[in-house]
Amino acid sequence: MSDWKIEIERCPEDRKQPIPTDGSKLGFGRLFTDHYFEARFHREKGWGEATIRPRGALGLDPAAMCLHYGLEVFEGLKAYRSKTDSIHLFRWRKNAERMVRSAERLVMEPVPVDLFGAGVKALVELEKDWVPGMEGCSLYIRPTLVASDPFLGVRPADEFLFYVLCSPVGAYYASGFKPTRILVEEEDIRAAEGGLGEAKTGANYAASLRAQRRAQKAGYTQVLWLDAKEHRYCEEVGTSNIFFKIDGKVVTPPLAGTILPGVTRDSVLRMLKHWDVPVSEEPIAIEDVLAAAEAGTLEEAWGTGTAAVISPVGVFGYRGKDITVADGAVGALSQKLYDALTGIQYQRDPDHFEWCEKVC
Ligand SMILES: *Cc1c(COP(=O)(O)O)cnc(C)c1O
Repeated sequence: MSDWKIEIERCPEDRKQPIPTDGSKLGFGRLFTDHYFEARFHREKGWGEATIRPRGALGLDPAAMCLHYGLEVFEGLKAYRSKTDSIHLFRWRKNAERMVRSAERLVMEPVPVDLFGAGVKALVELEKDWVPGMEGCSLYIRPTLVASDPFLGVRPADEFLFYVLCSPVGAYYASGFKPTRILVEEEDIRAAEGGLGEAKTGANYAASLRAQRRAQKAGYTQVLWLDAKEHRYCEEVGTSNIFFKIDGKVVTPPLAGTILPGVTRDSVLRMLKHWDVPVSEEPIAIEDVLAAAEAGTLEEAWGTGTAAVISPVGVFGYRGKDITVADGAVGALSQKLYDALTGIQYQRDPDHFEWCEKVC
């Protein structure tokens, strides 16, 4: 499919780690496979030096621009093992295309979509034994692009390092598919119009940590972000996109520049349309969500993202009060979406949308 030549330097057998067999101990993002992929870009030479090698320290100068000015964008996608032990990626091209747009926003050199695909597929194939087969587990893939010029001036960079890590991850819901407690954040903001909100970049995560810590200290899982201007319109929940079901109709905020265009968000929108569930992308004010809860018409709320797929919200904390979503249990549509998406990802169900690509 692509002309990228990838050198492979294998990890010596005696340096390989044991592959975990207990899915309940995996957690998220703590353990990494034996190899990683990298490629480098130089302004005069273009992309090259594509290599899979044993995971270790990156060759990065202490003056590298990414370490000083936040010139970093990343992706998150997963490889899934089917019952017949084939390995599949879910909509990887959407992630590659989004990484191009994230890079462009930060005036970084975009990773060609076919280089992204070639690197991810070659690495996943080499590490296929690391794709967990336990229920709900998967191999999380983290493509990352950083500016590597050793330079302290502030200007767009000329040298880049693109690398891909793999991490076996456990079932997100170790103790069952459970609704979360979400604190409505009225002080900090995640992203403002004209800012970096629609780019998947570390800077957005740095900006989010203070509110996340406050929410966790107050007994909530995550925050609901409101818009930067009026602190009124719902934007995202933690690092997921947000959906509400009010009076039979599903609504999610539009992609108007401050929201990350989630692949899971897009998949949920397409499924709902396919099922003829009324759905719209429009601004939704927090007071309307709370009024619906009061009136008994807030039927469901859930976040969407690659890590958790569907994350039902049970409670919104707002100005010192807890507002329960319906009866606080997992809603029927949240459950149906979760089952349908994971059914496709793990090849239990036919892939009508052609979202999966077999790697090996
Ligand atoms: C990655 C991310 C999402 C979810 O995107 P998916 O492609 O569905 O995983 C949502 N919001 C933010 C801020 C993110 O970084």
